[in-house]
Amino acid sequence: MAEQFVVIGGDAAGMSAASKAKRDTPDTDVIVFERGEWVAYGACGLPYYIKGDIEALDDLVSVTPTEFINERDIDLRLEHEVTTIDPEARTVSVVGPDGEQFEQAYDSLLIATGAHAVRPDMPGTDLDGVFTLHSMTAGRDIREYVTRARSERTPGFHDGTNTAAQTYLDTQPPETVALVGGGYIGIELTEAFVANELTVELFQRGSHLLSDFGEAVASEVESHLREHDVGVHLDTEVTGLVGDEGTVTAVRTANAEIDVDMVVIGAGVRPNVDLAQNANIERGPTGAIATDEYGRTSVSPFSSQSCRTAPPSPSGCSTLSFAPATKPSSETDMSATTRGPSVLRSPGVAPITSLPS
Ligand SMILES: Cc1cc2nc3c(=O)[nH]c(=O)nc-3n(C[C@H](O)[C@H](O)[C@H](O)COP(=O)(O)OP(=O)(O)OC[C@H]3O[C@@H](n4cnc5c(N)ncnc54)[C@H](O)[C@@H]3O)c2cc1C
Repeated sequence: MAEQFVVIGGDAAGMSAASKAKRDTPDTDVIVFERGEWVAYGACGLPYYIKGDIEALDDLVSVTPTEFINERDIDLRLEHEVTTIDPEARTVSVVGPDGEQFEQAYDSLLIATGAHAVRPDMPGTDLDGVFTLHSMTAGRDIREYVTRARSERTPGFHDGTNTAAQTYLDTQPPETVALVGGGYIGIELTEAFVANELTVELFQRGSHLLSDFGEAVASEVESHLREHDVGVHLDTEVTGLVGDEGTVTAVRTANAEIDVDMVVIGAGVRPNVDLAQNANIERGPTGAIATDEYGRTSVSPFSSQSCRTAPPSPSGCSTLSFAPATKPSSETDMSATTRGPSVLRSPGVAPITSLPS
């Protein structure tokens, strides 16, 4: 029987590894379980989709599911969620789109479950009109909220049976948006919202924007934003969101309450480690999966990119290897190669982003 290489998660890291494994060892059965409906998407383009520069979400997809299946011979299963890993039995439990459950055996396993956006622990984050941005569906929801244009995919909208969607369209589009967090997502979304003629209030807890960059870059960006009438609130922590009849109406800080119609929180990410944690796979100092420099975890499945703690970088720092979209490819090339006869070693990951506190 052919070797079974199972991958959990079908975005940048998972699909790079699956493709690399198939290229290197075509006889291997490569099976990818992705719980969502999208694979190999460029989340980096979502702010430009929201802005309107990119017309359709499909334009952010680099390789389609059909191409992975037909041209790369990868057994890709969309809307399949892995619910447990059993490292002793070398199986994963999976729930399919119709709720069917089954076990899948593996010879090697890659955990490429990525990360999710943080919702800070403060009142009001569950109000309507409050968003985070880490997925294609979140990007679609934000664009629809801003433009009040329900998409083709909203069930029942076009035949008039979805009255919630109709009511939603009848209300006024937002005029003022608060961005909580002055990192790159906050800045890219500011551009998108200004282009859509929204008034933007940008809140940053620290003393300068883009804390991963130096002050010179940050002050240049700040002046540019102010020239476009963006309200830049530095050293200002948002302590809660205020609502009326379930919809957000204001942002609260220590000194003020500022009226807004919409909020997007860009306060960092946390790794998706529940599966690993429940399988007693060790975690590192950031809370992400601990791996050695070959991407191996404490119980031998591999882990990749956003959900793993990288080994120390040349700078000596150990960090959650979040961000550069180029990184999932190189890191997972390593995991996909190392599971075969040759091994690749990661030189480490330099810290380019801070974890939320
Ligand atoms: C708005 C935005 C802008 C960005 N801009 C840039 C940029 O300009 N440059 C850059 O380099 N990077 C950028 N990034 C970061 C980049 O998108 C990420 O580094 C990259 O998406 C990480 O890929 P990943 O495959 O590790 O994880 P993810 O993209 O998080 O994918 C993980 C996948 O695993 C699936 N999954 C999770 N759990 C399960 C389970 N139990 N069963 C099955 N499937 C599961 C999820 O559905 C998801 O599809 C940006 C990100 C965002 C959100």
